Amino acid sequence: MIAQLVFLILFVAGVGLFARKISSIARNIRLGRSEDRTDQPARRWNQMIRVALGQGKMLSRPVAGFFHVLIYLGFILINLEVLEIVLDGLLGTHRLFKPMLGSFYAVIIGFFELLAVGVLLACVVFLWRRNVQRLERFHKPELSGWPFLDANLILIIEVVLMGAFLMMNIAEANMPEHGGYLISKPLGFLLEGVSEGGLHTIERVAWWGHIVGILAFLNYLPYSKHFHILMAFPNTWYADTVPSGQIPVMESVRKEVSLMLDPNADPFASPAEPTHGEQPSRFGARDVTDLSWKSLMDAYSCTECGRCSSVCPANMTGKKLSPRSIMMKTRDRLEDVGRALDEGKELGSDGKFLLGDYITAEELQACTTCQACVDACPVLINPLSIITELRRYQSMEAGLQPNEWKSMYTNIENNGAPWQFPAADRLGWAESSKN
Ligand code: SF4
Ligand code: SF4
Repeated sequence: MIAQLVFLILFVAGVGLFARKISSIARNIRLGRSEDRTDQPARRWNQMIRVALGQGKMLSRPVAGFFHVLIYLGFILINLEVLEIVLDGLLGTHRLFKPMLGSFYAVIIGFFELLAVGVLLACVVFLWRRNVQRLERFHKPELSGWPFLDANLILIIEVVLMGAFLMMNIAEANMPEHGGYLISKPLGFLLEGVSEGGLHTIERVAWWGHIVGILAFLNYLPYSKHFHILMAFPNTWYADTVPSGQIPVMESVRKEVSLMLDPNADPFASPAEPTHGEQPSRFGARDVTDLSWKSLMDAYSCTECGRCSSVCPANMTGKKLSPRSIMMKTRDRLEDVGRALDEGKELGSDGKFLLGDYITAEELQACTTCQACVDACPVLINPLSIITELRRYQSMEAGLQPNEWKSMYTNIENNGAPWQFPAADRLGWAESSKN
């Protein structure tokens, strides 16, 4: 009875703390600019099933993709076994589903054990790639310190959790009243010679270690890059459905330009009064609250895998820009803003902004808007949309763009072309070159 009570307290505390953190993250995401992304539901479900559930983009890098799929399957499927552990903990039973499922129970647990071995193997491979092989994309400046430690911690925690799961079954494999399963049975020799009392103690320690570890890990997730395992699902559902490369047009600017180009428009007419909600409060984005809520969800969904930065031409040629770093800094800023709100402070009271205090003009100016980062992301994150919005603010409100860009804007405005020559001349030249 005491064990059940302790379990209940731990379970309620673990789930309650997790729910509280999730609601603060949801509040943070809602700080973003509103945007309707509920169109084309069939396409969105398809996108989510293909990319998040089916891991559709992971296998573009076969080695990392294969081992990632192993960890993912292990994480999802072995958690089904956690349901039994939770019910056992609450009801004071042991292997509640065993009598219900009969011989099929051994098949399921054997399959989970096989997955656990797969997860262990994948974790060892990933630890090797990060710490021994030292793959370049895991040793970029934005990953130094906490992000690097975080990635290692996740892998180590998964090794411990899977180890506890297997050890629990190995201890049982040596008990005459139980017997083992697919993997635990042949591994039973590891605890050969241990007394029955010792086996019971090992089984209980592993059982408690496994479930307490899972509850602790659940609460660690929202502070870690591993949060993507949950966020990948909504993030792919709400991802862009427009063709890749299409940069959203600002409606207010489109209207103004259409009016300028309309030959029937009265050039002396005073501008129409903006209707409610029509005038943008800001051109582009200076802080996280100016970005779309989807960009903020992107920031929480980033796995910090670096696939985007490894294909970024600016990053590859030694520029300061890294799309992964753009996502990490956006998340850092959003977390800082959220923390200030939790402390009862006013929005923006710290006098800081995403642009300038977290992301520098130098990083933004290095972007070629090539879309390679968007294309590479395995969870359909769009780092370019944040870069574009920050650059819009730089150019349209703050006038902080480089001088070369200013003369290009003037040329487009005056000549209809980015050069000093009118577009008509260029078209004439193109025509004459045909002859
Ligand atoms: S769009 Fe910009 S950030 Fe993304 S890969 Fe191209 S240059 Fe890099
Ligand atoms: S934005 Fe996508 S590709 Fe880039 S680090 Fe994050 S998850 Fe990986």
